Amino acid sequence: MLKLGHSLIEKIHAHGERDYPNECCGALLGREEGADRIVTGLMPFANQRGDSPKNRFSIAPLDVQMAEDEAKKKGCNLIGWYHSHPDAPARPSEFDREHAWPWYSYVIFQVEKGEAREMRSWRLNEDRTRYAEEGIEYIASA
Ligand SMILES: [Zn+2]
Repeated sequence: MLKLGHSLIEKIHAHGERDYPNECCGALLGREEGADRIVTGLMPFANQRGDSPKNRFSIAPLDVQMAEDEAKKKGCNLIGWYHSHPDAPARPSEFDREHAWPWYSYVIFQVEKGEAREMRSWRLNEDRTRYAEEGIEYIASA
């Protein structure tokens, strides 16, 4: 289960609505507690894909490094990534699968006509062939 506080969800939604009709993306910082992951902070990124920002996103290696540094500074871990799907369902695309790594939580949310909608979380299997959905539990705060 991925546990997400309301204020963080609002921030993720606002990022997606601001960047609409382009995709937005960012890092999820947090900690693991047994089988659960608790998101305690976010790190929004600028979308690096100049060619097709409406339906793809990519995270620059420097962003990964920055997110890892930020997590270390805060005493937590880099546990995943979030990105928006403007006018598309909150499911990973083939492009997403090809560019994802196992272990991380991938939060995807739909932004329909500029308004944030459904949010889901996915984790890629070890052999990188398919995703398993990870439940999201909404909590008061992290
Ligand atoms: Zn995607």
